[in-house]
Amino acid sequence: MSIAENIARVRANIAAAAAEAGRKPSEITLVGASKMNDACRCREAVAAGIDALGENRVQEMTAKLEEHAYDGAPLHFIGHLQRNKVKQVVGKVSLIQSAGSLELLEEIEKTAARLEIVQDILLEVNIGEEGGKSGFFPPELLSGAEAALKKSHVRVLGLMAIPPAEAEREENLQYFDKVRGLFLDMDEKLFHNSLRVLSMGMSGDYEDAVRAGATMVRVGTAIFGSRHYM
Ligand SMILES: *Cc1c(COP(=O)(O)O)cnc(C)c1O
Repeated sequence: MSIAENIARVRANIAAAAAEAGRKPSEITLVGASKMNDACRCREAVAAGIDALGENRVQEMTAKLEEHAYDGAPLHFIGHLQRNKVKQVVGKVSLIQSAGSLELLEEIEKTAARLEIVQDILLEVNIGEEGGKSGFFPPELLSGAEAALKKSHVRVLGLMAIPPAEAEREENLQYFDKVRGLFLDMDEKLFHNSLRVLSMGMSGDYEDAVRAGATMVRVGTAIFGSRHYM
């Protein structure tokens, strides 16, 4: 199957899941998670109409930017972001989906201020409260959002979450519901119901995520095929 055929199939599945939930497919942004796929394959996804591409590793993204891999589509950063790499990401991407700590928010703010831009971000919530994984723990989320609101060079568009990898389907659905609950609570309390982006769902669970209210899904394997780790 070609990348274009895969995108068409994923879109059809998203449309069906959206319909089941009484939603329109146009409410859902399809982000291709393009890690370990070269510039040529990224361009193929762009040509096939992917809504955005998301990268995980700063070094890989920087190299592919030089090769014009993403021309024609918005680029997101979706991976774990180290503070010392923030300079290579702010201003280079339209959305940082993985702003998951106060220190990282501060570094993004400083870098964006220096560039005199406003960087769009999502707050990442560590919904499974897993050690060694990035993201605000649920009890810290509101104070994280308050801190972000005080910064004039970051703009919070919503929330991103990756439930624990080992969760079975039922448990995974509960995590999605929890994330949506946090999203609605934060939106109402701090953002006057203006947040639009709830990013959750990957190749194995994007249809469940859409039924649970996701407005953005990040799909890698189902679009690009399996990755070959070396
Ligand atoms: C790789 C990745 C994805 C996509 O994973 P697949 O299971 O291949 O669809 C989504 N989100 C993040 C943050 C990722 O790193």
